[in-house]
Amino acid sequence: MADCVFCKIVSGEIKTEFLFKDDKVACFKDIKPVTPAHFLVVPVRHIPTPSQVTDQDLEVIGRMFQAAAKVAEDLGVSKTGYRMVANVGPDAGQEVPHIHIHVLGGRKFGWPPG
Ligand code: 5GP
Ligand code: ZN
Repeated sequence: MADCVFCKIVSGEIKTEFLFKDDKVACFKDIKPVTPAHFLVVPVRHIPTPSQVTDQDLEVIGRMFQAAAKVAEDLGVSKTGYRMVANVGPDAGQEVPHIHIHVLGGRKFGWPPG
């Protein structure tokens, strides 16, 4: 997808240090972290929203959770815990229309979220 910042990151057009990357999933630190540990998990394929996840993407969605857990372990936040967030649409404040999970760790969180 030509104008998608996450497609550019995944393809290498925007230089980014990957915390994890394979042919289906990439993880990298958020450019504006809101917690001590804050990284993003994205599918390599451009999927704009959850409503456009197809049956062919089901393995990728599982692999996103596996990659999130691996990187959370690598960053040392597994034992204390972390939050996974997927913003969808304007009310949730989604800025990048390429599905992604924010993995937030390194501090405590309240519930319900604000
Ligand atoms: P959203 O608001 O769509 O859920 O989250 C998009 C996230 O992508 C934001 O937290 C923003 O800081 C992050 N982001 C946007 N552009 C870039 C970039 O070029 N590099 C990195 N690493 N993160 C980005
Ligand atoms: Zn994209």
